[in-house]
Amino acid sequence: MRNRRAALAAVASAASLALTLTACGQNSEGGGEEKKGGSEGATIGIAMPTKSSERWISDGNNVVKELKAKGYKTKLVYGEDDPDQQVSQIENMITQGVDALIIAAIDNKSLNNVVQQAKDSDIPVISYDRLILGTENVDYYASFDNEKVGELQGTYIADKLGLSDGEKGPFNIELFAGSNDDNNTKYFFQGAMNVLKPYMDKGELVVRSKQTALNQVTTLRWDGGTAQKRMDDLLTSSYRSAQVDAVLSPYDGISIGILSALKSDGYGTKAKAMPVVTGQDAELASVKSIIAGEQTQTVYKDLRKLAKIASNMVEASLNDKKPEVNDTKSYNNGVKVVPAYLLQPVSVDKSNYKKALVDNGQYTENDLK
Ligand code: BGC
Repeated sequence: MRNRRAALAAVASAASLALTLTACGQNSEGGGEEKKGGSEGATIGIAMPTKSSERWISDGNNVVKELKAKGYKTKLVYGEDDPDQQVSQIENMITQGVDALIIAAIDNKSLNNVVQQAKDSDIPVISYDRLILGTENVDYYASFDNEKVGELQGTYIADKLGLSDGEKGPFNIELFAGSNDDNNTKYFFQGAMNVLKPYMDKGELVVRSKQTALNQVTTLRWDGGTAQKRMDDLLTSSYRSAQVDAVLSPYDGISIGILSALKSDGYGTKAKAMPVVTGQDAELASVKSIIAGEQTQTVYKDLRKLAKIASNMVEASLNDKKPEVNDTKSYNNGVKVVPAYLLQPVSVDKSNYKKALVDNGQYTENDLK
């Protein structure tokens, strides 16, 4: 079979020859269109996990915008958190002849066959935000420093409770983690535990439910309702005669569920202060909740930058060039270390949201009212 990228380059150079000839014939000044790269006009398939969270809607829009600016066509699909649906959406895009794929996996282990099909058709695959595991057929990984996300959440809790300043507590904490089929989950949790575990070992932080292992605290598909139910259960089983001082939450949608359970139990009043509740993604509702004094913290990740990185990876791959990466060690997917570009996350609370989210144009003051 003819190499797809060579074919794309051949089509592009024929087009540019035609342009040059036309330009010569017309004796035009300025010499025809600027050529953006051999792969211009290629179609890129983008598979996002769900529309139920604002972040992925932004991701889809941002990636389309970046790719269009590079002269690509795009096909954007959302798998509605159903791994089988995501697999068939990607299969369809391969059949329809996309030239490259950007995939944010729903279930990191369900994509092996479909990315093999991509490889067989010479379609480069970029793992977007969540690493695809157990396959050699992932070319590059665009994400954030995921362990750092967890460290920012853990550090926020330790600072806010005063533990890092020598306060001894003991303080009560409960732990929540993300979906067990998302590779990021263990990085977020590990990062938080790097900070919190030493305080737990000293008895300064106490998990009254005793649910401290990752497999006891995950939240399938990052579902807020599932988290709310678990928080309800924890409050009933472990906090009849005690108060919870902090809740490690890995994601804003989960924090919303946790906060609902806490409010139903009387937290957020003078008698029963709201615990420190972390989050991630700086979704609009959660930033408003932070401003209103309910959720305490979130972790902001600039998705506009992530979209740029991923589209640069596509462009380089389609032109047989090496994209810029800044990490070639951290992300072993079980078969190979996937070269990655990792962006830096930022901790946000009531004290710095303007600087972190308004000054950079992420939100306007009006959005946050
Ligand atoms: C992403 C987070 C997001 C979570 C739930 C993770 O893979 O890295 O930003 O909060 O999925 O959508």
